[in-house]
Amino acid sequence: MVQTLIRQSVAQLPDNAIEAVGLRKVYRSKRGEKVALDGVTLSIPRGSFFGLLGPNGAGKSTFINILAGLVTKTGGEARIWGHDIGRAPRAAKAAIGVVPQELNLDPFFTPRELLEVQAGMYGVPKDQRRTMEILEAVGLSDKADAYARALSGGMRRRLLVAKAMVHTPPVLVLDEPTAGVDIELRQSLWAYVKTLNAAGTTIVLTTHYLEEAEELCDRIAIINHGTLVACDTTSALLGRLDSKAVILTLDRIPDPLPAALAALSPELRRDGRMIVRYKPSEMPVAGILDAVRAAGVTLVDLSTEETDLEDIFLQLTSSKAR
Ligand code: ADP
Ligand code: MG
Repeated sequence: MVQTLIRQSVAQLPDNAIEAVGLRKVYRSKRGEKVALDGVTLSIPRGSFFGLLGPNGAGKSTFINILAGLVTKTGGEARIWGHDIGRAPRAAKAAIGVVPQELNLDPFFTPRELLEVQAGMYGVPKDQRRTMEILEAVGLSDKADAYARALSGGMRRRLLVAKAMVHTPPVLVLDEPTAGVDIELRQSLWAYVKTLNAAGTTIVLTTHYLEEAEELCDRIAIINHGTLVACDTTSALLGRLDSKAVILTLDRIPDPLPAALAALSPELRRDGRMIVRYKPSEMPVAGILDAVRAAGVTLVDLSTEETDLEDIFLQLTSSKAR
């Protein structure tokens, strides 16, 4: 009996945490019109860790803010946890927690007060509030009674994550959460968000860093100029990008360059580093290391270069055209 009940309730869960169909936004101002979203159709599966990737101005925040109810759509539809944002705005809003891009916090509230006020706004009964538990989870329990203005940028960011979680939404959206957050705090923020995802929360993260999306997300959508360029599992998407770069630091760069190294057509930097661009489908990275060894030079360090988003768009749009 209990099992049947559980099975039924699982069956009622939506397959997709978020569904957008032809979502469109035109900002109108004195200066004219700006098409920020040009008909975006996108599904975010329940339980996924989803990356919405795109350069500045692509329309990521507009997409997020429409879902959050902060921006009014011009056209199209969106559903959060099955609730249409236009027809059932309250239910849609209750299903989502959004960590905004801007660090907009009232400087005279303490973290404890802020979370209590937020819980009140969402109608969370007093005995069901988890203020201290949430502050603990984001590493702010010792700052519970400090004024927000006394918190560092990283702490404010984590406080905004805490604020988005007070009503325990099944979907958590983070809009460029690592801007202005140092590496250590970034790691602890990700550790917390990963725990939430493992426990079943659907995570949507916007970023303009491919590496960040690549490391964290199981699915990635790419938007550029308000249009969806790609949407796939991370591995399938990266597999389509047949271009990588490694940076080699050698003990010395021989002059003339030995044939084995010259064959890689490297770009030589003034600081003595060598950049090799290659197609993983044609040559594995081990082939590059073999060439270095054959040239008789010692490899001091090896790192990868951030993949340029513009390159990716060019690749994806050209492969679509073929
Ligand atoms: P992203 O978050 O990917 O950087 P945004 O959604 O913030 O992109 O912006 C998409 C486009 O819409 C940009 O060209 C931006 O200048 C424009 N835009 C954003 N907000 C407004 C607004 N309130 N009024 C007019 N144009 C806007
Ligand atoms: Mg943005």
